[in-house]
Amino acid sequence: NRRIVLNSRPHGAPVPDNFRLETTALPEPADGQLLLRTVYLSLDPYMRGRMSDAPSYAPPVEVGEVMVGGAVCRVEQSLHPDFDPGDWVLANSGWQDYAVSNGQELIPLGKQLEHPSRSLGVLGMPGFTAYMGLLDIGHPKPGETVVVAAATGAVGSVVGQIAKLKGCHVVGVAGGSKKCKVGVDTFGFDACLDHRATDFDQQLAGACPNGIDVYFESVGGKVFDAVLPLLNVKARIPVCGLIAHYNDTELPAGPDRLPLLMQTFLVRRIKAQGFIIFDDYGSRYGEFLADMTPWVDEGQVKYIEDLVDGLEQAPEAFIGLLEGKNFGKLAVRVGED
Ligand code: NDP
Repeated sequence: NRRIVLNSRPHGAPVPDNFRLETTALPEPADGQLLLRTVYLSLDPYMRGRMSDAPSYAPPVEVGEVMVGGAVCRVEQSLHPDFDPGDWVLANSGWQDYAVSNGQELIPLGKQLEHPSRSLGVLGMPGFTAYMGLLDIGHPKPGETVVVAAATGAVGSVVGQIAKLKGCHVVGVAGGSKKCKVGVDTFGFDACLDHRATDFDQQLAGACPNGIDVYFESVGGKVFDAVLPLLNVKARIPVCGLIAHYNDTELPAGPDRLPLLMQTFLVRRIKAQGFIIFDDYGSRYGEFLADMTPWVDEGQVKYIEDLVDGLEQAPEAFIGLLEGKNFGKLAVRVGED
């Protein structure tokens, strides 16, 4: 049984030495427990927060502990009445080949699963985040302009497509021309702009002639700087993530622009709301699946996956996620279907 543990806490961007690959004996389930075998491991930006011991909404991974993570697993051995060997489940089993579970926090995915990795992306936590954040906080109305950051990623691609289904003018923001082309050609956004372009601010203003009604925030930094002056009266901002700042070690230098931010919020009566998907919306997962499953099956919502082979590749792939090297939902193929 291989597992990847937190070797040391990062200072700034994580490096390979922050992780350690270990080999241990296969864990044995006791009565009422199950042995799970990881098939796909999800890699997500929140894991950067767990590597740090700064106060957050969830406790950190301790040094020497297995890295946390959601995974699609198969039941290898069952001493639990509700599960049989071969069953598919969604588990918080971490970066490892095998894990023991008491069954309590597992989401059953059935005996046959045609597209297992979907349950980590478009039909899993990121899709759910997009759905609730956009619809319950963003409240997009037909004809409104929705701007979405990290627009070709796991969350952003779904946000933009749901906004199109709701009749909005959708402007994506992504890193590089290749991602931007996919934003328009595959995901159907009205425009998709490269945040690294020197004239990004002007391009965004040009793509949003009627201002911005909903800004789905996943990034912060320069993207938010360009969005702020374009926000309309009564604009809504679901604050989902701030990935441009996850590796920061101090506040940015420069003038204090907090008064400008608060003044803009006041004068334009803007509503910004943070949310932590399962804490705030866990009870509505079924509602999400009921809408999203047919959208995906009928091709109304498309998705791109970035699948990496081998558990040992997880640290490098995760480091790349924080640099925008992934293209679509990032997951590791750990074992055979
Ligand atoms: P993505 O698949 O979107 O991958 C992360 C992307 O972030 C990168 O590909 C890159 O896209 C972009 N990025 C990274 N660094 C920067 C930077 N410095 N400036 C601008 N963009 C950057 O990841 P997810 O879809 O899984 O997550 C998206 C966001 O949603 C994250 O902020 C995450 O923390 C948040 N989230 C929040 C949840 C919640 O409950 N609140 C739940 C799930 C996710 P590009 O190359 O296009 O710049």
